[in-house]
Amino acid sequence: MRSLFSLSKYVKNARKNLAIIAFFSIFYAITNSVWPQFIRWIINNAPAHFVNKTSQQNIIFILIFTLAMVTLGLLLSLFDALSWWYSSRTNALIQTDLNKKIYAKLQSLSISYFENNLSGSLQQKLYGGVAAFQDWMMSMSQNLIEPGAIIVISTVLIFINSREVGTLLLVSILIFILSFLRTNKKSDPLYTLVNKNTEQINGRISESFSSFTTIRTMSAENIFKKSIYKLVDSLQRNNYDLSDLWGKSIGRRSLLNRTVLFSSLGIMLFKLSKGRTNVADIVLIVIYLEQVQSNLLYFSRFFTSTINNENRAKRLLEFINTEPDFKDTDNAQSLRLLDNYELIDVSFDYPDGKKGAVSQIDISIPKGKTIALVGPSGVGKSTIIKLLLRFYPPTRGELRINGHNAEEYTQNSIRQHIGVVMQDVALFNDTILKNLQAASPKTTRSKIIAAAKQAHAHEFIKELPQGYDTLVGNRGIKLSGGQKQRIAIARAILKNPQLIILDEATSALDSESEKLVQEGLQGLLKNRSALIIAHRLSTIQHADEIIVLQRGKIVERGTHQELINKQKGVYKKLFELQSYSGKITL
Ligand code: ADP
Repeated sequence: MRSLFSLSKYVKNARKNLAIIAFFSIFYAITNSVWPQFIRWIINNAPAHFVNKTSQQNIIFILIFTLAMVTLGLLLSLFDALSWWYSSRTNALIQTDLNKKIYAKLQSLSISYFENNLSGSLQQKLYGGVAAFQDWMMSMSQNLIEPGAIIVISTVLIFINSREVGTLLLVSILIFILSFLRTNKKSDPLYTLVNKNTEQINGRISESFSSFTTIRTMSAENIFKKSIYKLVDSLQRNNYDLSDLWGKSIGRRSLLNRTVLFSSLGIMLFKLSKGRTNVADIVLIVIYLEQVQSNLLYFSRFFTSTINNENRAKRLLEFINTEPDFKDTDNAQSLRLLDNYELIDVSFDYPDGKKGAVSQIDISIPKGKTIALVGPSGVGKSTIIKLLLRFYPPTRGELRINGHNAEEYTQNSIRQHIGVVMQDVALFNDTILKNLQAASPKTTRSKIIAAAKQAHAHEFIKELPQGYDTLVGNRGIKLSGGQKQRIAIARAILKNPQLIILDEATSALDSESEKLVQEGLQGLLKNRSALIIAHRLSTIQHADEIIVLQRGKIVERGTHQELINKQKGVYKKLFELQSYSGKITL
């Protein structure tokens, strides 16, 4: 239960609310133990009382008795409702506080966490953990405190009445607990497997959603289906094993309960035959026994669900306790202006992957200048961007901003001065307006339209059925590549950053879209520093410096003219190849 207890510290007043729920539950249990005493009293006294009484006296007696029972019933319902009401409110509180905690944590984690975890599995882990904690808190009042109190009170009252039945009951409770603990131990690894299976299934399903076009175009439906079916089948097997285990255990415990109940009846009958008890006491004991036994089942249900809940809570707690791999330094300040950005002798190894993704990189992006990165795929261009965006710290070397080590500034404030337009633009599943507003939440509609015009996006947006209020679909699926690109440019214009990064922003476009996007980019790049990655060399000819990369290292650098003049130069060769294939018209 350690993880579940630990989670309670993230929910405001969770422990105080639990104490209040316990208070109501215990009062319920005490009140509940009173009514069998009424029954006993009535069996013992009513027959004698009715003898030689007028019918009026009898009616008054019956009315008083009924009124006392109804009052008891009212009290029971009141305590029951109060404990349920408080549990339910606590449930809502848990959902709010844990969701806030989870989202704040998500925002603080480093990019590597998201690169290494499937989003569907992660969601299952997080929301499974919240549901587990809610279930545990609810179960605590309904299956632990209330039944626990009823068991203790009823057992004591049985003992007072018949030591023989009380002893038999205590022994049976002991056997019940031992049998239950044995099954618990066996079920723990199975619950771990079931939770893991469920997370994997959710991960695969959400992956299938996000890449459904790729799956269809690759005709890979069957491969995906098979891998999900395999997981689902394994989940079923593990759930069947759990059913077998708990089915047998419940059967054993039920048999034990019945045996104790009927043997107790035998003991009481024997005592009756010896004149050591009466019918009222037999009825009383049977009612209390019934109460103990049915509540024992609730009680055990609490522990059964707790194992699974603890298992799920542990996974959520692991997430909450995850520390970002890369944090701001303690005295990091907010960056006000980004004039010059430099990488000095920078090398980078991915934490769990590629060593030497880039090595000994020296790049300077002075204020207002355009630097281009060129090289085939896999040479480290995107890695350099991730370093500039402070998603990762360099393994060796240093990043400098305006001559100072980049560590002196918070990661978030550095990113505020950088606008990025990627090849694969991800839009939020919302309206175009909301997507544009994300860059600058306080901006006005007229400024948004002005930015869209500058990005050459306004023309197509106003043609859409609901204009700026058109929903773009999941990741912007209802828009073409070029349209998404122009939205991304408008977004960057609204953000008004000092440095623009273009990561193959136009490489996936047809020439008509490319022309429009290029025109949009002119507006964006005006008076700003830029780092451009482009496959089509025609788009970077005017860059102030072109840097050519091979296998993570810089192999050439200079202006277009300087590089083109180099005999046997890598850039020259690339340029000639593209001119030859018609991608560049000289
Ligand atoms: P480019 O942008 O030039 O295509 P990248 O910077 O994406 O190249 O990749 C450089 C190298 O680092 C490649 O070998 C790639 O496989 C590897 N790499 C990229 N991202 C990761 C990652 N998240 N984890 C591990 N290795 C990675």
